[in-house]
This record gives sequence, C-alpha cells and structure tokens, in this order.
Amino acid sequence: EKFANLGISENILKSLLKKGYEEPTPIQEQVIPLMLKTNIDLIAQAQTGTGKTASFGVPIIEKAQEKLDHIQCLILTPTRELAIQISQELNSLKGTKKLKILPIYGGQSIDLQVSRLKSGIDIIVGTPGRILDHINRKTIDLSLISDMVLDEADEMLNMGFIDDVEEILKHTNDTKRLLMFSATIPTQIVSIAKKHMKNYEIIKT
Ligand code: AMP
Repeated sequence: EKFANLGISENILKSLLKKGYEEPTPIQEQVIPLMLKTNIDLIAQAQTGTGKTASFGVPIIEKAQEKLDHIQCLILTPTRELAIQISQELNSLKGTKKLKILPIYGGQSIDLQVSRLKSGIDIIVGTPGRILDHINRKTIDLSLISDMVLDEADEMLNMGFIDDVEEILKHTNDTKRLLMFSATIPTQIVSIAKKHMKNYEIIKT
C-alpha cells in the first residue's frame, strides 16, 4: 500500500516524502483512512516504534483548520519527552498548513506557557497534571475541541494519571472524537472507552 492511496492531501504527502516515510506502517494503513473517512472513536493497540504517532498525526493535521480561534485538538501523553516528540512530529507533518502546535508539560514555566497559549494555539500536546492546572486557571479552554488522543494510555494509567484524565474529559464536549493508543488493553482502558466513547472500534496490529 502507498500513502497516496490513503486519502492524504498533496501537502502532507510532500511532508511524508521529506521525512523519508516511503510506505505506511500497518497501524498507519489501518488508522489513517478510518480517521479520514469517519468520525468513529478508536482504541488502537500499538507498541511504540510502530509509527503510531503519524497514524493519528496525519489525520489530525488534515482535519485541523487554519485560523480558528479555539483549541481544536488535545493529545495527552504520560511524559514531557513524549509530548515534545509528538509536537515535533506534527510540526514536521503540517507542511504549508498554518497550524500552531504547542507542547505543555510540568517543569516548564507556567507564565511562559500562558503567554504562548494566548498566541492562539490549534493543537496541544501535553501531560495531564499541567493541562489540568491550565484548565483550572482558565488558560486552556477545551470546550470546542473536535479530537482528543490518549497516547500510551496504559502508561498514563500505570503512572496514576487516571483521575486527571477523567477530570480533563469533563471539560471537553460530547461530540468530540476520542482516540486511545495503547500497547496493552487492560480492563481499565475498556471501561474508560465504555464510559466516554459512543461507537468505538478496536484496532489491533
Ligand atoms: P512512533 O511509533 O510514532 O514513535 O514511530 C517510530 C519511528 O518510526 C519514528 O522514528 C518515526 O519517525 C518512524 N516512522 C513512522 N512512520 C514511518 C513510516 N511510514 N516509514 C518510515 N519510518 C516511519
């Protein structure tokens, strides 16, 4: 299979070429067309190193609109390193599309983050504790997001972020798409899905 057959725009095909991605990985082959064609919630079982970031990154960049005045997408990750890495991957995929992607994590100056948030951010990639902090300060408003990703969901649970994630979900809307990427699918993941997802599909690779 080729990226060109998955319904991806010329702009992003160029970005993929520039990154040296010649063919989609198995998870990308399954997730990209599904996310582009439908608005269905997903649980995707994928180890790190399988190309999972671009599997949700490509459709999220495709769907994001330029010049909207609200946050369109939230990606939650267990660690700051992963937040930075995903944010870099999204920036390298966006090509000529004018989108602002911001990593938000603990340990960095809140004031600095607040001033960046004021510049109009489209996509936030962050760790749960600091995101919740900004929600409580009203410096992040998630009420209009259209997509939310829980990346390395099993790790987030292992690290004790479940209450933070549940609290963050309360500040979103019911029509957003919710996507979970996880190396394993323990029962806790399935119960989050049952509680917060409408119709969801499980993808295994
Ligand atoms: P990830 O699982 O998203 O952390 O990706 C693992 C590694 O694979 C990263 O270094 C990516 O840059 C790389 N990668 C992702 N998709 C592809 C692809 N289709 N072809 C080649 N490399 C890829």
